[in-house]
Amino acid sequence: RSDILILGGGSAGCILANRLSADPSVKVTLLEAGGWAKDPDIAKPDMWPFIQGREFDWDFETTPQAGTAGRVHRWARGRVLGGSSNLHAMFHVRGHRADFARWAELSGDARWSYDGLLPHFKATETWNIPEDALHSSDGPMPIMLPDETQSHPLVKDYIKGWVALGMPRLRDHCGEELIGTAPNALMIRDGKRVTTADAWLTPDVLARPNLTIVEQAPVRRLILDGTRAVAAEVHHGTELLRYEADEIILSLGAIGSPTTLMRSGIGDPERLAEAGVDCLIARREIGKNLHDHLLAAGNIYRAARDIIPSKLQISESLSYQAENPTQTEGRPDIVVGCVVAPSASEMFDNAPEPGHGFTLLFGVTNPTSRGELTITGPELSDPVTIDPNYLATERDRHLFRVALDRARKIGQSAELAPWIAEEVQPTPGDLTDEAAMDAFIAMAAITHHHPVATCRMGADGAAIVDSNLKMRGLDNLWIVDASIIPEITAGPIHAAVMAIAESFASARLG
Ligand code: FAD
Repeated sequence: RSDILILGGGSAGCILANRLSADPSVKVTLLEAGGWAKDPDIAKPDMWPFIQGREFDWDFETTPQAGTAGRVHRWARGRVLGGSSNLHAMFHVRGHRADFARWAELSGDARWSYDGLLPHFKATETWNIPEDALHSSDGPMPIMLPDETQSHPLVKDYIKGWVALGMPRLRDHCGEELIGTAPNALMIRDGKRVTTADAWLTPDVLARPNLTIVEQAPVRRLILDGTRAVAAEVHHGTELLRYEADEIILSLGAIGSPTTLMRSGIGDPERLAEAGVDCLIARREIGKNLHDHLLAAGNIYRAARDIIPSKLQISESLSYQAENPTQTEGRPDIVVGCVVAPSASEMFDNAPEPGHGFTLLFGVTNPTSRGELTITGPELSDPVTIDPNYLATERDRHLFRVALDRARKIGQSAELAPWIAEEVQPTPGDLTDEAAMDAFIAMAAITHHHPVATCRMGADGAAIVDSNLKMRGLDNLWIVDASIIPEITAGPIHAAVMAIAESFASARLG
C-alpha cells in the first residue's frame, strides 16, 4: 500500500516519480507496463525513425481515415520506462504564448498561461546556451541547440533561404516568438538521446527508500469504491494483483489514460455498453476531442549533390509560419521542416535512395479536426479503436494547401537550387486545382505523433479534469499526461508534457 500510486512511467510519470518522492514522508509507487530500456538503438539520435514497432512500442493503429485516402496510420507509443520519450524525435519546442492563453482561458486558471508555465518549462531544462530570462541551466533534461558545425549544410542553406524570403531567423523555438526559422533544439547529451527516465530516474532517486518502481506491471483497470479509486488491478503473469493507495495519478498517456478509465467503468455509457463494460461513473467526454498533428511527406526532391548523413537526428529544422507570409509575430498556422533524407509516406514508391534525396515536410500547427478513441472490450488485450478524424475540417485542408505552397516556395529558392536535380513529389498533376492538392496531401500525410485531449482539462463540467488536474466525479484521482491538454500546441508537445508534470508536482509539494 502506498500514499501515492503513479500509473505509467512515461514522459510525465518519470518526472512525477522523482518529484513526488522528494518528500521522504510520502510513499510513492510507480507501475509501468514495460521495463527499463535495453535496446541500444534508442540512444542513437539518427535511429529514431527506425525503432518503431519493436517490443517497447505499443504500436497502435488508427481506423481507416477518410481524410487521408482511407489509410490506416500506425501510432507508436513507448511501452518502457521513459515512455514515448524513448521513441520521439527529440525536438524541444514549447509552443506559442497564444496556445497557453487558450489553456488558461479553457481551464479558468492563469497557471496554465505561458507566464504561469514558464518557471516549470525552465525547471525541466538545461540548455547548452547561456542562461537568460527564458532559458535555464539547472533542470534535469539537457536541451542541445546545434551549432554551425553540427547542422547539415543543406539545412544551413534552407535556413538562409527562409531569411532571404523575409522570415525571421530565430535562435531557437523557445523564445518569445515562434514564427521564423531555427535549427531544432534537441534532447541530446554527448551525442545520445536522453529520455525522461534517464533524466529523472537517476541512481540517487532510485535509492530513495520511499520510492518503489514496479516494471512489467500492465494495469488492467482501477478498482472503485463509490467515488474513490482504491486500487489498481495489475497483470502479473496469469494472476491479477491489486496495488492499493490513498491517491492515484494516471500518467498512462493520451491512449492509456482514457482507455484504462473506460475499462474501469468510467466513460461514455453507450461506448462502455458496446464494449461489454458496466458503467459505474458516466463521463461522456473520456476518449473524445482526440486530435493530432499531421505532416505531409512530402515535397520530395532528388538531390543534385550527395546528401551526407546527418550528425543529429535527420529532421533538423522546423520553420513555423503564419498563413500570411509577411506576418512575423503571433501564433503560427503552418510548419515546414527540412529532413536530410528522402522521407516519404508509404503511398510513394518513387522517392530517391537515401543519400540522393531530401524532403520538405509540411503541416498545420493548430488543427481543428477532432476524433475519438474507445475500447472494444474489458481487457487490456482488446484492441483500441482510434479515430483521429484527420483532415475533417475545411480549415485544416485549406491550411495544408497553404503549407504545400510554402514548402514548394522554399524548394524553388535560390539557396536550395544547387541542391536540387528534380522535384519528385508532388507531380504537376497534383497541383492542377484544390481537389488535386487535397488528394495529394491525403496520400502524403503521416502522423507527427502528438495525440492529445482525450481527458481534457477545462473549467466546464463536461471537462474530465479541473485546473488542478483532479478528475471530476472522483475523490482521489488525478491525470497528468498528454491526455489533459485541452488544445494542441503549435509545435511538438513533449516540452509541454514535461512542464505539465513539473507544474503539478510543484503545486503538490507547495
Ligand atoms: P507516454 O510517454 O507515452 O507514457 C505513458 C506510459 O504509460 C508509457 O510508459 C506506457 O508504457 C505506460 N502505460 C500505458 N498503458 C499502460 C498500462 N495499461 N499499464 C501500465 N503502464 C501503461 N514530441 C516532441 O515534443 N518532440 C518530438 O520530436 C516528438 N517526436 C515523437 C516521435 C514519436 C515516434 C513519438 C511516438 C512521439 C513523439 N513526440 C514528440 C510526442 C511525445 O513523445 C509524447 O507526446 C509524450 O512522450 C507523451 O508523454 P505521456 O507522459 O503523455 O505518455
